[in-house]
Amino acid sequence: MAVATRYEVVVGLEVHAQVLTQSKMFCGCSTDYLVAPPNANTCPVCLGLPGSLPVINRRAVEATIRTALALNCEIPEFSKFDRKNYFYPDLPKGYQISQYDLPFSRNGRLEFDVKGEARRCGITRVHLEEDTGKLQHEGAIEQAQSSLVNFNRAGVPLMEIVSEPDLRSADEAREYVMRLRAILQYIGVNNGDMESGQLRCDANVSLRPMGQAEFGTKVEVKNMNSFRAIHRAIEYEVERQTEVLEAGGRLVQETRGWNDTRGLTVSQRTKEFAEDYRYFPEPDLPPLEVSREWVAEIRSTLPELPAARRERLIADLGLTPYDASVLTSSKPMTEYFEEMVRLGAPAKAAANWILGDFSRFLNADHKEIEDASVKPAHLQQLIALIDSGVISGKMAKQTFEAMYRSADPEPALTAAKGSSQISGDAELAGIVDQVIAENEKSVADFKAGKAQALKFLIGQGMKLSKGRANPQRLEALLKEKIS
Ligand code: ADP
Ligand code: ZN
Ligand code: MG
Repeated sequence: MAVATRYEVVVGLEVHAQVLTQSKMFCGCSTDYLVAPPNANTCPVCLGLPGSLPVINRRAVEATIRTALALNCEIPEFSKFDRKNYFYPDLPKGYQISQYDLPFSRNGRLEFDVKGEARRCGITRVHLEEDTGKLQHEGAIEQAQSSLVNFNRAGVPLMEIVSEPDLRSADEAREYVMRLRAILQYIGVNNGDMESGQLRCDANVSLRPMGQAEFGTKVEVKNMNSFRAIHRAIEYEVERQTEVLEAGGRLVQETRGWNDTRGLTVSQRTKEFAEDYRYFPEPDLPPLEVSREWVAEIRSTLPELPAARRERLIADLGLTPYDASVLTSSKPMTEYFEEMVRLGAPAKAAANWILGDFSRFLNADHKEIEDASVKPAHLQQLIALIDSGVISGKMAKQTFEAMYRSADPEPALTAAKGSSQISGDAELAGIVDQVIAENEKSVADFKAGKAQALKFLIGQGMKLSKGRANPQRLEALLKEKIS
């Protein structure tokens, strides 16, 4: 395609992540905005009533520093909050408390890989701000009769993680967000839920002729609520911008919204500049001194991060770099896998099952692994049934699907264990006779003391029974008959 040869894709991402705290950023209201009745969790502070005063949520600051450390950022000693002024009905105060020139962190980086190749993206900053309320339009937005506003989300702590324009394709951008999401989950600051908007991503996309040093005009794309949407939106934008440039046109710096159903971006507004926001220091909050002791303390509580765990899965369990990357892309998936291995499942088989049919079903159902009825112990037992030859690979796939589709996977698993297996000695005797008759040499070898030969004979018996023989009984009967 022309894109690949003529233009270089440049992408920088701004990711917003709600911080998992009990209370809001500047007041004591609960952060529950998904379940609570509209406007139940509000107070004069988060409604922006005159005379109310904000108080900084220490845990939200801690989570931001934690995130910044996990992203290899520097943590300056001084920081402050600023007012970002703009009008919108979901913003009760008429300004958002955010951070402008002295954020909690800067100059970090995130390392990840795309199809086995190592990549790195600079992190400009991680700062802290407050979320807005939510508008609910009655009817289609174009001809809305009325709009309702719910301020439960207003004031929920929100981190913004800004990347450098270091990403060079939609693939890289998607991978970056996957890694970032995994890190946020691992360190417990965000639940990674993109569908409900607790993790949101805006993509800045531009093109420049190959070999040109200066960046081209960027377009900011919003409203993507899945990895797939991020990928599609960037690809769409690259194609659209290419067409404009190829036709001799110029791009305007603007904000566009991704329409997932129609698969395209739509212009929302031409981009405002920083001066439009009239940033100034928040007069109701003191500047913050971030002590080095506190930073050291937060650093000491960081858990093992996905990159380290990925290395461990490769080194200790022999997984391929690709499998290890995908498995560590979500904390629940990593934990699911590790639990299976702890229970005795061979690592490679466990990885194959999780990344194969299981992931396919989950993706199709828009479900996460922790929502599945099939637990690590179930899948581990299923794999054991295959390994011991009780059921064939084909049967295992059918059994797995039955387990997955049912609220209780036990019956399907039990059926697989029992129904198919031949344990009755009478039935097995026929198989044993046939194996002995057809494999004289191996029988002789076994008699001569070669243990390996017995394994071969058991294998033949399993084959004859199409994997249905009980391997322990088969072994016992073979030994008995031969000696
Ligand atoms: P703005 O002032 O419009 O907010 P910033 O310079 O703060 O722009 O950058 C915002 C985001 O846009 C960052 O993630 C940055 O990496 C990205 N970005 C900046 N310039 C470009 C560009 N030319 N192409 C793609 N992304 C860009
Ligand atoms: Zn409040
Ligand atoms: Mg900016």
